[in-house]
Amino acid sequence: MTDLFIGGEWGPAEAGATFTTLNPADGSVFEECAEAGAPDVDRAVAAARSALADPAWAGMTAAARARMLWRVADLVEEHADELAELETRDNGQPLAVAGGVTVPGAAEHFRYFAGWCTKIEGSVVPVSFPDTLHYTRREPVGVCALITPWNFPLMLAAWKLAPALACGNTVIIKPAEQTPLSTVMLVELMERAGFPPGVVNLLTGGPATGAALAEHSGVDKVSFTGSTEVGRKLVHASAGNLKRLTLELGGKTPSIIAADADIDAAVAGNVQGALFNSGQVCAAYARFYVDRRRADEFTEKMAAAAAALVLGPGLDPASQLGPLVSEEHLAKVDSHVRGARAEGAELVTGGRRAGGRLAEGFFYEPTVFAGVTDEMAIAREEVFGPVIPVLAYDDPDEIVERANDSAYGLAASVWTRDLSTAHRLAAKVRAGAVFINMIHVPDAATTWGGFKASGWGREMGPYAIDAYTEVKGVWTHLGGA
Ligand code: ADP
Repeated sequence: MTDLFIGGEWGPAEAGATFTTLNPADGSVFEECAEAGAPDVDRAVAAARSALADPAWAGMTAAARARMLWRVADLVEEHADELAELETRDNGQPLAVAGGVTVPGAAEHFRYFAGWCTKIEGSVVPVSFPDTLHYTRREPVGVCALITPWNFPLMLAAWKLAPALACGNTVIIKPAEQTPLSTVMLVELMERAGFPPGVVNLLTGGPATGAALAEHSGVDKVSFTGSTEVGRKLVHASAGNLKRLTLELGGKTPSIIAADADIDAAVAGNVQGALFNSGQVCAAYARFYVDRRRADEFTEKMAAAAAALVLGPGLDPASQLGPLVSEEHLAKVDSHVRGARAEGAELVTGGRRAGGRLAEGFFYEPTVFAGVTDEMAIAREEVFGPVIPVLAYDDPDEIVERANDSAYGLAASVWTRDLSTAHRLAAKVRAGAVFINMIHVPDAATTWGGFKASGWGREMGPYAIDAYTEVKGVWTHLGGA
């Protein structure tokens, strides 16, 4: 049983409510967690508000804040094996992903933003009034509610906690109900790092807990990663006090494979780009536009590479692809696949739930479709699963329009040996990140976020500092008083 963390104290929800999380590799109950209700949300907001004014936090030097964030990174690394195993059992991702990407990615995020604490500067501005000094200050936004999804629970918690705290905010983190456990452990480590009570609060719970935070007038900002549908709800929920919003939402990343591409390199990169974490990645490559002259070769090789991946429980070192997060999500992926077949897409490999020793878990075979057309739902809607739809193109000039004909704009990818093709496409595609001849990767030092229905604002790099601070202009008349 795990508790809530409010004002520096661990305890159950006031109403005593709980929920359970499952191990997606076998469907068994893994852990029971406190489910925060409205009174717990009120208590967490009150604790975070009072910590905001507490001299122990508000008066802490930037250097001390930096050391505290750095300490979190050290603690994450000291507990790397435990955290990785927890993530694998709660989320399903293979241990190689949890231990090789998730945990080090989280630690690096705290280190990167530890560095920012002492560099959050204002500027002296040459305003055009005589005898006037004008400077700007960057101040914390206030109480930040951080709502995370289930696909990379620990890493996404770090993406939000590290910059929010570097900027001097106080936080209430609410992990996804499917995968709260690595966040619970991270908050335990943060308690040990020495943040004053109320600076970091944890509410576990489901959509109702998130909605109560999003509507709360004592919350100044919500940073959310999740579905576009919930993102829209947050826009409405934030209207009451016009709280700030950062939204990192869905995607449908186009991957464009030009006639001159090194097809074997493109297959190796795209199979990972599509299937990393079983496709449960917001930037996952999700529609493949291939020059018609290379489309058959690409499809055949992608299908062979996808089918060769070893599907299995994340704790088994031989597993290359883990289960999907839940039965409900598996049903959603399967209905997209059925829909594609009904619309006439040609199934090349996969297309069903895995059976045999994997039947108890939420495993889905990597799936490749050929002959997909732009109007099919499988080319337009976010699947968030191990599904690869291949579309052919004839004219390189048509490809920008087709790639941009999407509600989303999180990422795009281009595979070519021609620099001008690559950079012309990079300039024209409407997406927050473009990956040329490589898989999608995040890095704390640079932008992450989307155009269009993929969200509002950017995380990471200096952009996160913008997102977690308010700018104030200070004017002084220097003439006689
Ligand atoms: P997915 O569709 O991938 O499960 P969601 O967008 O539903 O992702 O969920 C992402 C996070 O948002 C989770 O922590 C979830 O509990 C939370 N959430 C879901 N609905 C709401 C809501 N109406 N308001 C605030 N948070 C919500």
